[in-house]
Amino acid sequence: MEFTGENILEFVKRFPDDRSYLAYLSGLKRTNGFVCTKCRHTKFTIRKKNFARDCNRCHHIESPTDGTIFHGLRFGQRKAFGIMFEMTATTKGISASQAARRYGISRTTAWAFMQRVRSAMQSSKKYPIVGDVQVDEFVLGGKETLKQGRSKDSKKKKIVGAVELSEKGKVKRVYFNKIDDYSSKSLSCIFEKHISIDAHVLTNKWTGYAPLSKRYKIEQKYSEKGGSMKQMHTVIHQLKSWLRSTYSWVHQDHMEKYLDEFSFRINRSIFKQTIFHTLTARMLMAKPLTYQMIKISI
Ligand SMILES: [Zn+2]
Repeated sequence: MEFTGENILEFVKRFPDDRSYLAYLSGLKRTNGFVCTKCRHTKFTIRKKNFARDCNRCHHIESPTDGTIFHGLRFGQRKAFGIMFEMTATTKGISASQAARRYGISRTTAWAFMQRVRSAMQSSKKYPIVGDVQVDEFVLGGKETLKQGRSKDSKKKKIVGAVELSEKGKVKRVYFNKIDDYSSKSLSCIFEKHISIDAHVLTNKWTGYAPLSKRYKIEQKYSEKGGSMKQMHTVIHQLKSWLRSTYSWVHQDHMEKYLDEFSFRINRSIFKQTIFHTLTARMLMAKPLTYQMIKISI
């Protein structure tokens, strides 16, 4: 039942109308089990007309979108799925302005929905990195220089990133966090969220990493203009060029959401066949957000 692949013609064929989207969501919801929100009963009947679930005890009706990020969408599932498909099946995603033009909705509506999608793309943090990992800090925005370093420019967004390497030394997974400064406390967030204490971590010689070696296996090497952490620097370059080409300007408060989107796509690049399905399933699990919550919570 799950949709696989990156082919837009297949996608359009699979989802010809709003009913097909509801059927898909309903099927996904069924795999998650059912507990009636009114009486906690666990048995239900599915209505053929709109795939709503009818509680067998109290007859409370639940639509496939109830209690999910899809609830209350004013522009319909069809456009929502289209935007999600482009955010996952493509290599670079799309900007809110592009989505607005392609789906005939306002830029604000597109932006708000895409922020909801990004919140579902956030890492579950269930699978910390255990093997080889490179950690480095860098800045985004402002005038770019080749210097990777600890800029004190407050307009620039400070980021710490971690790249997990495969056995062949290829990029396997990436994670980023926005940080306020380069103190050990700030740098520790990426370790706590994404890196196992058993991982072998390579960093540069910055003193901020030294106190973390009490808990983590850290090796500090001179950066040699990025040469000692080639994979990390390739990823930073990709991130910067993606943000520059797709998003002309990203507000400081929203940066983490864009970092989540970038990581979600890279971390699933070998699972590209199922990336759309994975995202849809995650969006069903995520709690609904209002526009105000999006603006405030990030
Ligand atoms: Zn019930």
